[in-house]
Amino acid sequence: MSYDEEAELTHYVWRNHLSLLSRFEWDVERATHARGNFADGTGEHAKRVLERFGRLGDPRIDVALAEGREAFRRSACRRILAEHAELQVNRCPRCHKVLRTPVAKQCFWCGYDWHNNNG
Ligand SMILES: [Zn+2]
Repeated sequence: MSYDEEAELTHYVWRNHLSLLSRFEWDVERATHARGNFADGTGEHAKRVLERFGRLGDPRIDVALAEGREAFRRSACRRILAEHAELQVNRCPRCHKVLRTPVAKQCFWCGYDWHNNNG
């Protein structure tokens, strides 16, 4: 598995700092779920979810997703990191790659484990 700094940063923000999404980014994120999970739109429940959250025909959502969900997430992540300088990304002290969570003490990438170190 190769390391993609921006992809890892995006996953990190999505996993740990979703509360920093803007209202519009939330709408887009919800729309991707509704559209992805109920793409066929058959049945009353699917129709209701798509109508309520899918935002079909909403040009702002379509523009945000024009290059796909991952591209949208990456750009939202760049905005969040730019606007929240206080946000500390937890990195491996050995290889400096992005870790899974803010409290992780083990690196998925190089295998370094510092659970027994102080700090
Ligand atoms: Zn590491």
